Amino acid sequence: MLVPRNIRLFLPTFAEYAFLRAVDSHGCLLGTRKTNLVDAVQRTFGGREALAHTSIILIYRPTHGHPMESQEFVMSTRYKPWGYNLPSCPSCGNGAVNAPIRFGVATVTCLSCRRCTDGPGVTVPDGVIPVKNHKDPEDLGDRYYWRPLNAVSPWLNHKWKSD
Ligand SMILES: [Zn+2]
Repeated sequence: MLVPRNIRLFLPTFAEYAFLRAVDSHGCLLGTRKTNLVDAVQRTFGGREALAHTSIILIYRPTHGHPMESQEFVMSTRYKPWGYNLPSCPSCGNGAVNAPIRFGVATVTCLSCRRCTDGPGVTVPDGVIPVKNHKDPEDLGDRYYWRPLNAVSPWLNHKWKSD
């Protein structure tokens, strides 16, 4: 198993939450409807140290006999809203762009020439689920998300305002 060093540090904690907690016959933590693996990923990796440079992919079978689930746990920042890479500015060609999520809507703006994408902006894509993380002091309730594995970027084919 090949694990980056910054992730390797978290593995004992992940193992503790994932395998040493009491679960019911559905693989959920006792008294909840949350599976122990999902909980373990959120508790262990829900922080800047782990997620600033990577995402966590969880492939698991929620219950015996059910199909496999593939989900990606991502951190959202103004440079990577909902964990998606932003398109480069077509005028400057540089990647110095950002898209803070304001009132649930994100519009890409170039930090160099201020050109921005056209239209009303992008709202949270389908299937992207916010996660509360009370361990993170900067938690605003929407910094961490689960999303379908290999979800298509909402900025694919997004148009930029003309000059
Ligand atoms: Zn630009």
